[in-house]
Amino acid sequence: MPKPKQVKNLKIPGVEPPDTICNDPNCPWHGSLRVRGVLLEGTVEKVRAKRLAIIRHTYLHYDHKYKRYERRSKKIPAHLPDCVRVKPGDIVVIGETRPISKTVKFVVLGVKKTR
Ligand SMILES: [Zn+2]
Repeated sequence: MPKPKQVKNLKIPGVEPPDTICNDPNCPWHGSLRVRGVLLEGTVEKVRAKRLAIIRHTYLHYDHKYKRYERRSKKIPAHLPDCVRVKPGDIVVIGETRPISKTVKFVVLGVKKTR
């Protein structure tokens, strides 16, 4: 196990670095996992398997025929590092990363700050 290093400052808008330090190698704050690609917002649906959270991401899709937006949503499985504590209903920011498993290619960065 690599020993926990300092918290990396990822400069994610709306997200504070976690208070605790974890030993998870797939942690974007303390491990070697790099976040690249898109940042998405979503609501936590469930936290079941170890280090896994299901996030529901709601977005607007433009319908050209009817010239209106429609609400769509999709469930995104995201890796949940040990230092990030979430519960269902929380609004979180997830970041795209390398594939961690067959379905997981996002990581939970933290709970979005409410202004
Ligand atoms: Zn961590």
